[in-house]
Amino acid sequence: MKLHIPKELPSFETLLAKLVGENSISASDSSWDHSNESVIRELEKWLLGLGFRCEVIPVDQQAGKYNLIATLGTGSRGLVLAGHTDTVPYDQARWNSDPFKLSFSEGKYYGLGTCDMKGFFPIIVEALKSMDQAELNEPLIIVATADEESSMAGARLIAQQGELQARAAVIGEPTSIRPIRMHKGILMEAVEFRGCSGHSSNPDLGNSAVNAVHGFLGELFAFRSRLQANYQNANFEVSGPTLNVGAIHGGDSPNRICGHCQMNFDIRPLPGMSVSSLHAEIDALVKQTGYKYKIDVKHRHMVEPVPAFETSRDAELVKACERLTGVPAEAVAFATEAPFLSGMGMETVVMGAGSIDQAHQPNEFLAEQQVGEMAKVLSSLINSYCIAQP
Ligand SMILES: [Zn+2]
Repeated sequence: MKLHIPKELPSFETLLAKLVGENSISASDSSWDHSNESVIRELEKWLLGLGFRCEVIPVDQQAGKYNLIATLGTGSRGLVLAGHTDTVPYDQARWNSDPFKLSFSEGKYYGLGTCDMKGFFPIIVEALKSMDQAELNEPLIIVATADEESSMAGARLIAQQGELQARAAVIGEPTSIRPIRMHKGILMEAVEFRGCSGHSSNPDLGNSAVNAVHGFLGELFAFRSRLQANYQNANFEVSGPTLNVGAIHGGDSPNRICGHCQMNFDIRPLPGMSVSSLHAEIDALVKQTGYKYKIDVKHRHMVEPVPAFETSRDAELVKACERLTGVPAEAVAFATEAPFLSGMGMETVVMGAGSIDQAHQPNEFLAEQQVGEMAKVLSSLINSYCIAQP
């Protein structure tokens, strides 16, 4: 299979401006949430023009959410370049320009999603521009997902379908072109305590939800200490798993027994910690509290969990990325779609142009210098994974 690059390919800036111009915000708040179909269709158009076979897969048809899998060449040991097509919402008042209109000043491309991470797709096109007439003996697969910023539904669907086959995957999230081979996971949990309210003058007139919360918190913090004693990983800035109780709401009046409390907490597990065991242990604590305080306690997952992710330090892809960038692979604090691709058996690294410091911020930008650098790294990876060596 030959890679054929049309002579009149639009510039990086033109392509990026197209993607930035399409609203593809994803958010759990439905007043912000928007279809990503226009971004997917735009990518499909470019990639069809470059000879890729394109498959647009509905993730949630009603909400207009789609994944794109575009493949050039055949085989099962090629390279996946993956990214999400959605962005987070924006705060108009804090932007100095229209977030949907790409602008360029002092070496920086400004616009919503420039760095996180619409810029990755035109960078792939930049990388391909230098490879006209190259012969592919393993496929290059471009994966563009929906809803990474809200539910990761796009990546979850790809994992669930289980059809994607490749030797390695690079997820182009903004890491300032530093290879990332591990991150923690995240679980968000809600626990609801339903007791019985009553006059505060006599505790027997009700069943205090606050008493049960107090008991539960003690157990939860002991559980946290056990996790931190059992699991440590010095690659992370915060070396242990964390558990943060971020919200407690309940009760109404000082002179009434509190009848109802709700508590929300997150857990950020390290690689090697099983999400299903964590869920099971929380369930056991919930059950125990309900029994001890004779109260109705319910536990639910506020969002689907994202597992932790780790690719071995010795993996071929990790070595290749370290060699190409001159930077040792490291760990980051944010979660990505990596565990879903890694879970399908691909060596996976997160690495892309742009800094995480600009992601989710007003006046988000992508530095022009990183565009060329990242395109070079991608060309080398495509070369070593997909192209016949002489
Ligand atoms: Zn991102």
